[in-house]
Amino acid sequence: MTARMYYDADVDPTALAGQTGAVIGYGSQGHAHAQNLRDSGVEVIVGLAKGSKSRALAADAGFRVENVAAAVRAADVVVLLVPDTAQKAVYDAEIAPNLRDGQLLMFAHGFNIRFGRVQPPPSIDVGMVAPKGPGHLLRSVYTAGGGVPALFAVEQDASGTARARVLAYARALGATRAGVLETTFAEETETDLFGEQALLCGGVSALVKAAFETLVEAGYQPELAYFETMHELKLIVDLMYRGGLNFMRFSVSDTAEYGDYVSGPRVTEGAKAAMKDVLADIQSGAFAQRWIAVQEAGGDEFRQLRGRDREHQIEQVGAALRAQMPFLNPVVVREGEAQAAASAPAVATGSPK
Ligand code: NAD
Ligand code: MG
Repeated sequence: MTARMYYDADVDPTALAGQTGAVIGYGSQGHAHAQNLRDSGVEVIVGLAKGSKSRALAADAGFRVENVAAAVRAADVVVLLVPDTAQKAVYDAEIAPNLRDGQLLMFAHGFNIRFGRVQPPPSIDVGMVAPKGPGHLLRSVYTAGGGVPALFAVEQDASGTARARVLAYARALGATRAGVLETTFAEETETDLFGEQALLCGGVSALVKAAFETLVEAGYQPELAYFETMHELKLIVDLMYRGGLNFMRFSVSDTAEYGDYVSGPRVTEGAKAAMKDVLADIQSGAFAQRWIAVQEAGGDEFRQLRGRDREHQIEQVGAALRAQMPFLNPVVVREGEAQAAASAPAVATGSPK
Protein backbone atom coordinates (compact mmCIF):
# COMPACT_ATOMS: atom_id res chain seq x y z
CA MET A 1 0.00 0.00 0.00
CA THR A 2 1.41 3.36 -1.00
CA ALA A 3 0.11 6.45 0.76
CA ARG A 4 -1.09 9.35 -1.38
CA MET A 5 1.16 12.35 -0.93
CA TYR A 6 -0.09 15.91 -1.34
CA TYR A 7 2.16 18.68 -2.63
CA ASP A 8 1.70 22.43 -3.25
CA ALA A 9 0.09 21.83 -6.64
CA ASP A 10 -2.56 19.53 -5.10
CA VAL A 11 -3.78 22.13 -2.63
CA ASP A 12 -5.96 25.20 -3.11
CA PRO A 13 -4.59 27.94 -0.83
CA THR A 14 -7.73 30.05 -1.24
CA ALA A 15 -9.62 27.75 1.16
CA LEU A 16 -8.19 30.01 3.87
CA ALA A 17 -8.59 33.28 1.96
CA GLY A 18 -9.88 36.06 4.17
CA GLN A 19 -9.78 33.87 7.27
CA THR A 20 -8.07 34.76 10.52
CA GLY A 21 -6.00 32.26 12.47
CA ALA A 22 -5.63 32.32 16.25
CA VAL A 23 -2.40 30.63 17.27
CA ILE A 24 -2.78 29.66 20.93
CA GLY A 25 0.68 29.30 22.53
CA TYR A 26 3.94 30.71 21.22
CA GLY A 27 6.50 28.00 21.97
CA SER A 28 8.36 25.61 19.70
CA GLN A 29 5.45 24.99 17.32
CA GLY A 30 3.46 28.16 18.05
CA HIS A 31 6.06 30.68 16.89
CA ALA A 32 6.70 28.69 13.70
CA HIS A 33 3.00 28.27 12.82
CA ALA A 34 2.31 31.96 13.50
CA GLN A 35 5.24 33.18 11.38
CA ASN A 36 4.83 30.72 8.49
CA LEU A 37 1.08 31.35 8.28
CA ARG A 38 1.66 35.10 8.25
CA ASP A 39 4.34 34.86 5.56
CA SER A 40 1.89 32.76 3.52
CA GLY A 41 -0.68 35.54 3.66
CA VAL A 42 -2.92 34.35 6.50
CA GLU A 43 -3.92 36.94 9.09
CA VAL A 44 -2.68 35.76 12.50
CA ILE A 45 -3.54 36.67 16.08
CA VAL A 46 -1.51 35.09 18.89
CA GLY A 47 -3.55 34.01 21.93
CA LEU A 48 -1.71 33.84 25.27
CA ALA A 49 -2.52 33.93 28.97
CA LYS A 50 -2.23 37.38 30.63
CA GLY A 51 1.04 36.68 32.45
CA SER A 52 2.63 34.55 29.75
CA LYS A 53 6.35 35.07 29.19
CA SER A 54 5.79 34.45 25.47
CA ARG A 55 3.79 37.70 25.13
CA ALA A 56 6.84 39.88 24.64
CA LEU A 57 8.29 37.49 22.05
CA ALA A 58 5.11 37.42 19.98
CA ALA A 59 4.66 41.18 20.22
CA ASP A 60 8.30 41.76 19.23
CA ALA A 61 7.68 39.61 16.16
CA GLY A 62 4.92 42.04 15.24
CA PHE A 63 1.88 39.96 16.15
CA ARG A 64 -1.37 41.21 17.63
CA VAL A 65 -1.47 39.43 21.00
CA GLU A 66 -4.77 38.80 22.78
CA ASN A 67 -6.02 36.76 25.69
CA VAL A 68 -6.94 33.27 24.54
CA ALA A 69 -10.70 33.88 24.75
CA ALA A 70 -10.52 37.08 22.68
CA ALA A 71 -8.25 35.45 20.09
CA VAL A 72 -10.71 32.55 19.72
CA ARG A 73 -13.65 34.92 19.26
CA ALA A 74 -11.80 36.89 16.57
CA ALA A 75 -10.69 33.84 14.57
CA ASP A 76 -12.00 31.45 11.94
CA VAL A 77 -9.25 28.92 12.60
CA VAL A 78 -7.97 28.21 16.12
CA VAL A 79 -4.78 26.20 16.50
CA LEU A 80 -4.02 24.83 19.96
CA LEU A 81 -0.25 24.85 20.46
CA VAL A 82 0.21 24.89 24.21
CA PRO A 83 1.90 21.78 25.71
CA ASP A 84 -0.23 18.65 25.40
CA THR A 85 -0.59 18.37 29.18
CA ALA A 86 -1.93 21.96 29.38
CA GLN A 87 -4.37 21.72 26.47
CA LYS A 88 -7.36 20.38 28.38
CA ALA A 89 -7.32 23.20 30.94
CA VAL A 90 -6.86 25.90 28.29
CA TYR A 91 -9.53 24.35 26.08
CA ASP A 92 -12.12 23.96 28.87
CA ALA A 93 -11.61 27.40 30.39
CA GLU A 94 -10.82 29.67 27.43
CA ILE A 95 -11.65 28.00 24.15
CA ALA A 96 -14.83 25.93 24.52
CA PRO A 97 -16.96 28.80 25.90
CA ASN A 98 -15.97 31.04 22.97
CA LEU A 99 -16.33 28.70 20.00
CA ARG A 100 -18.90 29.39 17.30
CA ASP A 101 -20.32 27.09 14.62
CA GLY A 102 -18.15 26.47 11.60
CA GLN A 103 -14.83 27.39 13.19
CA LEU A 104 -11.91 25.06 12.55
CA LEU A 105 -10.07 23.82 15.66
CA MET A 106 -6.57 22.64 14.74
CA PHE A 107 -3.97 20.55 16.54
CA ALA A 108 -0.33 19.66 15.81
CA HIS A 109 -0.61 16.33 17.66
CA GLY A 110 -3.65 14.17 18.30
CA PHE A 111 -3.08 13.29 21.97
CA ASN A 112 -5.97 15.19 23.54
CA ILE A 113 -8.54 14.13 20.96
CA ARG A 114 -7.35 10.50 20.82
CA PHE A 115 -7.51 10.12 24.60
CA GLY A 116 -10.77 12.05 25.00
CA ARG A 117 -9.31 14.94 27.00
CA VAL A 118 -10.71 17.55 24.63
CA GLN A 119 -14.25 16.97 23.36
CA PRO A 120 -15.23 19.59 20.78
CA PRO A 121 -18.91 20.21 19.97
CA PRO A 122 -20.16 18.61 16.73
CA SER A 123 -20.87 22.03 15.18
CA ILE A 124 -17.20 22.87 14.56
CA ASP A 125 -14.52 21.43 12.27
CA VAL A 126 -11.62 19.60 13.90
CA GLY A 127 -8.36 18.97 12.09
CA MET A 128 -4.66 18.44 12.51
CA VAL A 129 -1.41 19.20 10.75
CA ALA A 130 1.39 17.43 12.60
CA PRO A 131 4.82 18.49 11.30
CA LYS A 132 7.36 15.67 11.39
CA GLY A 133 10.04 17.88 12.90
CA PRO A 134 10.73 20.35 15.71
CA GLY A 135 9.19 23.81 15.59
CA HIS A 136 12.45 25.69 15.10
CA LEU A 137 13.16 23.68 11.98
CA LEU A 138 9.60 24.23 10.75
CA ARG A 139 10.43 27.92 10.73
CA SER A 140 14.03 27.88 9.48
CA VAL A 141 13.35 25.38 6.69
CA TYR A 142 10.37 27.48 5.53
CA THR A 143 12.47 30.67 5.46
CA ALA A 144 15.07 28.84 3.40
CA GLY A 145 12.37 27.97 0.84
CA GLY A 146 11.77 24.37 1.89
CA GLY A 147 9.26 22.60 4.07
CA VAL A 148 8.99 20.04 6.86
CA PRO A 149 6.83 17.04 5.90
CA ALA A 150 3.65 16.62 7.89
CA LEU A 151 0.65 14.42 8.54
CA PHE A 152 -2.87 15.83 8.29
CA ALA A 153 -6.20 14.56 9.55
CA VAL A 154 -9.82 15.63 9.66
CA GLU A 155 -11.70 14.48 12.75
CA GLN A 156 -14.90 16.46 12.21
CA ASP A 157 -16.27 18.25 9.17
CA ALA A 158 -19.26 20.33 10.21
CA SER A 159 -18.82 23.07 7.61
CA GLY A 160 -18.09 20.91 4.58
CA THR A 161 -14.81 22.83 4.15
CA ALA A 162 -12.70 21.11 6.81
CA ARG A 163 -10.53 19.04 4.51
CA ALA A 164 -9.84 21.91 2.11
CA ARG A 165 -8.98 24.23 5.00
CA VAL A 166 -6.73 21.70 6.73
CA LEU A 167 -4.83 21.13 3.48
CA ALA A 168 -4.56 24.88 2.89
CA TYR A 169 -3.21 25.18 6.43
CA ALA A 170 -0.57 22.54 5.68
CA ARG A 171 0.38 24.48 2.57
CA ALA A 172 0.63 27.77 4.47
CA LEU A 173 3.01 26.08 6.94
CA GLY A 174 5.21 25.10 4.01
CA ALA A 175 4.60 21.40 4.66
CA THR A 176 3.25 20.65 1.18
CA ARG A 177 6.61 21.76 -0.25
CA ALA A 178 7.96 18.54 1.29
CA GLY A 179 4.77 16.46 1.08
CA VAL A 180 1.93 15.70 3.49
CA LEU A 181 -0.04 12.51 3.91
CA GLU A 182 -3.46 11.85 5.35
CA THR A 183 -3.92 10.05 8.65
CA THR A 184 -6.36 9.89 11.56
CA PHE A 185 -5.96 11.34 15.04
CA ALA A 186 -5.63 7.78 16.38
CA GLU A 187 -2.95 6.72 13.90
CA GLU A 188 -0.92 9.92 14.31
CA THR A 189 -1.06 9.83 18.11
CA GLU A 190 -0.23 6.16 18.49
CA THR A 191 2.61 6.14 15.95
CA ASP A 192 4.05 9.43 17.23
CA LEU A 193 4.14 8.19 20.84
CA PHE A 194 5.54 4.86 19.71
CA GLY A 195 8.27 6.44 17.59
CA GLU A 196 9.49 8.76 20.32
CA GLN A 197 9.37 6.05 23.01
CA ALA A 198 10.64 2.97 21.20
CA LEU A 199 13.19 4.60 18.94
CA LEU A 200 13.72 8.33 18.45
CA CYS A 201 13.99 9.53 22.04
CA GLY A 202 13.76 6.48 24.30
CA GLY A 203 15.29 3.67 22.27
CA VAL A 204 18.22 5.67 20.92
CA SER A 205 19.04 7.26 24.30
CA ALA A 206 18.98 3.86 25.99
CA LEU A 207 21.26 2.34 23.33
CA VAL A 208 23.72 5.26 23.51
CA LYS A 209 23.92 5.08 27.30
CA ALA A 210 24.26 1.28 27.29
CA ALA A 211 27.07 1.38 24.72
CA PHE A 212 28.86 4.20 26.57
CA GLU A 213 28.57 2.40 29.92
CA THR A 214 29.77 -0.88 28.40
CA LEU A 215 32.98 0.75 27.17
CA VAL A 216 33.64 2.76 30.35
CA GLU A 217 32.95 -0.23 32.62
CA ALA A 218 35.43 -2.24 30.54
CA GLY A 219 38.09 0.35 31.36
CA TYR A 220 38.16 2.40 28.17
CA GLN A 221 38.53 6.19 28.33
CA PRO A 222 35.20 8.02 28.77
CA GLU A 223 36.13 10.72 26.25
CA LEU A 224 36.84 8.09 23.62
CA ALA A 225 33.58 6.33 24.53
CA TYR A 226 31.70 9.63 24.05
CA PHE A 227 33.08 10.16 20.54
CA GLU A 228 32.32 6.55 19.63
CA THR A 229 28.77 6.34 20.97
CA MET A 230 27.29 9.83 20.73
CA HIS A 231 29.36 12.08 18.49
CA GLU A 232 29.57 9.59 15.62
CA LEU A 233 25.87 8.79 15.82
CA LYS A 234 25.03 12.01 14.00
CA LEU A 235 27.42 11.24 11.19
CA ILE A 236 25.81 7.84 10.72
CA VAL A 237 22.26 9.21 10.96
CA ASP A 238 23.08 11.90 8.38
CA LEU A 239 24.00 9.16 5.90
CA MET A 240 20.73 7.31 6.59
CA TYR A 241 18.81 10.58 6.22
CA ARG A 242 20.23 11.14 2.76
CA GLY A 243 20.29 7.62 1.36
CA GLY A 244 18.80 5.13 3.79
CA LEU A 245 20.59 2.18 5.37
CA ASN A 246 22.03 1.38 1.94
CA PHE A 247 23.96 4.64 1.74
CA MET A 248 25.20 4.30 5.34
CA ARG A 249 26.45 0.79 4.50
CA PHE A 250 27.97 2.03 1.26
CA SER A 251 29.92 4.68 3.16
CA VAL A 252 31.24 2.67 6.12
CA SER A 253 33.99 0.04 5.80
CA ASP A 254 33.19 -3.56 4.85
CA THR A 255 34.24 -4.55 8.37
CA ALA A 256 31.74 -2.14 9.89
CA GLU A 257 29.06 -3.38 7.51
CA TYR A 258 29.70 -7.06 8.32
CA GLY A 259 29.66 -6.30 12.07
CA ASP A 260 26.39 -4.43 11.54
CA TYR A 261 24.75 -7.57 10.10
CA VAL A 262 26.08 -10.09 12.63
CA SER A 263 26.10 -8.06 15.87
CA GLY A 264 23.21 -5.60 15.47
CA PRO A 265 20.57 -8.30 15.94
CA ARG A 266 22.38 -9.63 19.06
CA VAL A 267 22.10 -6.19 20.65
CA THR A 268 18.40 -5.84 19.92
CA GLU A 269 17.38 -9.41 20.75
CA GLY A 270 14.07 -9.14 22.57
CA ALA A 271 13.74 -5.52 21.53
CA LYS A 272 10.87 -6.15 19.14
CA ALA A 273 8.84 -7.96 21.80
CA ALA A 274 9.46 -5.04 24.15
CA MET A 275 8.43 -2.61 21.40
CA LYS A 276 5.16 -4.51 21.01
CA ASP A 277 4.55 -4.09 24.76
CA VAL A 278 5.28 -0.37 24.50
CA LEU A 279 2.84 -0.10 21.59
CA ALA A 280 0.17 -2.04 23.50
CA ASP A 281 0.46 0.40 26.44
CA ILE A 282 0.03 3.31 24.05
CA GLN A 283 -2.98 1.77 22.28
CA SER A 284 -4.75 0.82 25.53
CA GLY A 285 -4.31 4.33 26.93
CA ALA A 286 -2.19 3.00 29.83
CA PHE A 287 0.75 5.26 28.94
CA ALA A 288 -1.47 8.34 28.56
CA GLN A 289 -3.18 7.62 31.89
CA ARG A 290 0.15 7.26 33.67
CA TRP A 291 1.60 10.46 32.15
CA ILE A 292 -1.53 12.50 32.92
CA ALA A 293 -1.56 11.16 36.51
CA VAL A 294 2.11 12.15 36.98
CA GLN A 295 1.38 15.66 35.73
CA GLU A 296 -1.74 16.01 37.85
CA ALA A 297 0.25 14.94 40.92
CA GLY A 298 2.66 17.83 40.34
CA GLY A 299 5.20 16.13 38.08
CA ASP A 300 7.59 14.81 40.79
CA GLU A 301 8.35 11.52 39.05
CA PHE A 302 9.05 13.35 35.79
CA ARG A 303 11.48 15.75 37.47
CA GLN A 304 13.23 12.88 39.26
CA LEU A 305 13.73 10.97 36.03
CA ARG A 306 14.98 14.08 34.26
CA GLY A 307 17.42 14.89 37.07
CA ARG A 308 18.81 11.35 37.14
CA ASP A 309 19.71 11.29 33.46
CA ARG A 310 20.98 14.86 33.48
CA GLU A 311 23.78 13.76 35.83
CA HIS A 312 24.82 10.80 33.66
CA GLN A 313 28.57 10.63 32.98
CA ILE A 314 28.05 10.84 29.22
CA GLU A 315 26.44 14.28 29.69
CA GLN A 316 29.35 15.60 31.78
CA VAL A 317 32.02 14.24 29.44
CA GLY A 318 30.10 15.30 26.36
CA ALA A 319 29.54 18.89 27.50
CA ALA A 320 33.27 19.41 28.10
CA LEU A 321 34.22 18.00 24.70
CA ARG A 322 31.54 19.90 22.81
CA ALA A 323 32.67 23.17 24.41
CA GLN A 324 35.94 22.74 22.47
CA MET A 325 34.03 22.32 19.19
CA PRO A 326 32.24 25.65 18.73
CA PHE A 327 31.57 24.80 15.07
CA LEU A 328 29.00 22.28 16.35
CA ASN A 329 27.03 25.20 17.78
CA PRO A 330 26.95 23.41 21.16
CA VAL A 331 24.03 24.00 23.49
CA VAL A 332 24.08 23.81 27.29
CA VAL A 333 20.79 22.86 28.93
CA ARG A 334 20.12 24.13 32.46
CA GLU A 335 16.86 23.93 34.39
CA GLY A 336 14.92 23.05 31.27
CA GLU A 337 16.22 26.05 29.31
CA ALA A 338 18.33 25.57 26.20
CA GLN A 339 21.06 28.16 25.73
CA ALA A 340 23.23 28.34 22.66
CA ALA A 341 26.80 28.48 23.94
CA ALA A 342 28.10 29.60 20.56
CA SER A 343 26.77 32.51 18.55
CA ALA A 344 25.81 30.58 15.39
CA PRO A 345 22.04 30.53 14.76
CA ALA A 346 20.33 27.82 16.77
CA VAL A 347 18.28 26.20 14.05
CA ALA A 348 18.07 22.65 15.28
CA THR A 349 17.18 22.97 18.96
CA GLY A 350 13.94 21.65 20.36
CA SER A 351 12.77 18.07 20.68
CA PRO A 352 11.14 15.86 18.08
CA LYS A 353 7.87 15.66 20.01
P1 NAD B 1 5.99 24.26 24.06
O1 NAD B 1 6.37 23.46 25.25
O2 NAD B 1 7.08 24.81 23.21
O3 NAD B 1 5.12 25.47 24.65
C1 NAD B 1 4.03 26.04 24.05
C2 NAD B 1 3.68 27.42 24.55
O4 NAD B 1 2.43 27.35 25.21
C3 NAD B 1 4.59 28.11 25.53
O5 NAD B 1 5.67 28.77 24.92
C4 NAD B 1 3.62 29.13 26.10
O6 NAD B 1 3.46 30.18 25.19
C5 NAD B 1 2.33 28.38 26.17
N1 NAD B 1 2.05 27.71 27.46
C6 NAD B 1 2.89 26.94 28.18
N2 NAD B 1 2.28 26.46 29.29
C7 NAD B 1 1.02 26.93 29.24
C8 NAD B 1 -0.10 26.79 30.08
N3 NAD B 1 -0.06 26.05 31.19
N4 NAD B 1 -1.23 27.42 29.71
C9 NAD B 1 -1.29 28.14 28.58
N5 NAD B 1 -0.26 28.32 27.74
C10 NAD B 1 0.87 27.72 28.08
O7 NAD B 1 4.97 23.40 23.17
P2 NAD B 1 5.23 22.69 21.77
O8 NAD B 1 6.36 21.71 21.92
O9 NAD B 1 5.30 23.71 20.71
O10 NAD B 1 3.91 21.82 21.62
C11 NAD B 1 2.69 22.35 21.12
C12 NAD B 1 1.95 21.27 20.37
O11 NAD B 1 2.71 20.92 19.20
C13 NAD B 1 1.76 19.98 21.14
O12 NAD B 1 0.52 19.43 20.78
C14 NAD B 1 2.89 19.09 20.63
O13 NAD B 1 2.61 17.71 20.75
C15 NAD B 1 2.90 19.51 19.18
N6 NAD B 1 4.13 19.22 18.45
C16 NAD B 1 5.31 19.70 18.92
C17 NAD B 1 6.46 19.51 18.20
C18 NAD B 1 7.76 20.14 18.65
O14 NAD B 1 8.67 20.21 17.85
N7 NAD B 1 7.91 20.64 19.87
C19 NAD B 1 6.44 18.77 17.00
C20 NAD B 1 5.21 18.30 16.51
C21 NAD B 1 4.06 18.54 17.26
MG1 MG C 1 6.87 12.85 16.53
